[in-house]
Amino acid sequence: MKTKSVGIVGTGPAALMAGTVLLEKGCKVVFFDQKKAVARKFLVAGNGGFNLTNDEELEKFVCHYNTEKIKDSVRSFNNTDFRFFLSKIGIETFVGSSGKIFPLKGIKPIEVVKAWQDYLIHLGAIFKMEHVLKDFSECELIFEHNGNLITHMFDHSIFALGGSSWSITGSDGNWLKLFSEKEIQCKKFEASNSGFELFGHDYLRDFAGKTIKNCKVFSENEEKFGELVITEYGIEGPPIYALNGYYREGKTIYIDFKPSMTESLIADKLQKAKNISEGLRDLKLPKVVIAWLKHDLNKEDYQNKIKLAEIIKNFQLNVSNLRPIEEVISTIGGVEMNAINDSFQLKMFPKSYCIGEMLDWDAPTGGYLIQGCVSSGYVAAKSIIAQS
Ligand SMILES: Cc1cc2nc3c(=O)[nH]c(=O)nc-3n(C[C@H](O)[C@H](O)[C@H](O)COP(=O)(O)OP(=O)(O)OC[C@H]3O[C@@H](n4cnc5c(N)ncnc54)[C@H](O)[C@@H]3O)c2cc1C
Repeated sequence: MKTKSVGIVGTGPAALMAGTVLLEKGCKVVFFDQKKAVARKFLVAGNGGFNLTNDEELEKFVCHYNTEKIKDSVRSFNNTDFRFFLSKIGIETFVGSSGKIFPLKGIKPIEVVKAWQDYLIHLGAIFKMEHVLKDFSECELIFEHNGNLITHMFDHSIFALGGSSWSITGSDGNWLKLFSEKEIQCKKFEASNSGFELFGHDYLRDFAGKTIKNCKVFSENEEKFGELVITEYGIEGPPIYALNGYYREGKTIYIDFKPSMTESLIADKLQKAKNISEGLRDLKLPKVVIAWLKHDLNKEDYQNKIKLAEIIKNFQLNVSNLRPIEEVISTIGGVEMNAINDSFQLKMFPKSYCIGEMLDWDAPTGGYLIQGCVSSGYVAAKSIIAQS
């Protein structure tokens, strides 16, 4: 049988995993990227500790994704498979707090990328850097390189162009125009895994960097526990990121500052205290929360111990916006899931595939984004291999 040739545009985790599967099956693979070096955004993710995937049990794991195609891809290539692969290329991992999986201490993010790239080169991969995708048709990829337009022909192509945040890493989302012009169904990018900007937040600036531990952030049918951080613009942290979708849908977001206590127990504690200030201190609420309550509540509510207890459990966040797209951890939007089939094949260009964050799906941080990217890459590559 003729060796299949595949051009992969992008060198993020989705691209690298697709290439891995294809090269291991003997395909000829050429990677292209507009940056000088591979996997720049993957490395940025590494700055925060390189949370590669999560140890959660599979059916709970897939609940973090909002589309069936990504869920199914994670079932096909799951967290254990990814850890096994990493181990094969010499990157041992460990399970940290809340099930997050990281490379063993002492392994730097750049070493993970290098081990993966070396493995691919060993299998015969070719990397063509500083190639900007300008156009494509069924079998052609057209790039700008050193001011020239160059055409490459392949049996199949895989697009793994990423989302639209941290454009310095190459994931600039500029490709959206090209794909839209080709009438591939696309949506504009929106921020995800973002902090909340808050109305009238100025007085909280003095507390920037302070944490609020063990609280619950909730909206209709969803609640997330964890730690929040006050920022220059508002508030962030994993529970906030997880509730981004509810904000986008126009729903109200609340914080329960004392999830370990019932409202009546809080009211009781406040009643027993000499005054409100002492009562709030007895509840061991952080200074920032006390300042926040004092500032946001009218005098009547602040001094009514029953009402105050209710508000401590149901503090409404006055969200004005998500952060600018450029700064957020991930984006939604891009190629719509309807534009691809279950194997991530573009319906309009059946020899081409789209994988990773360039597709319109959402998941929280905690390793779920990277896992979704590598799993979609795995499924696309398997589909190419299966084609006669
Ligand atoms: C600060 C930060 C922290 C993060 N932390 C985590 C975390 O802890 N856990 C987690 O799971 N995820 C995390 N992520 C998200 C994760 O890094 C991304 O979801 C993931 O890298 C997306 O992978 P991808 O392969 O789809 O695309 P990307 O990694 O974005 O790669 C896309 C590639 O395509 C190239 N490209 C784009 N357009 C063109 C073009 N026209 N021509 C040629 N090349 C092009 C880009 O240069 C880039 O190299 C974090 C992200 C950020 C920014």
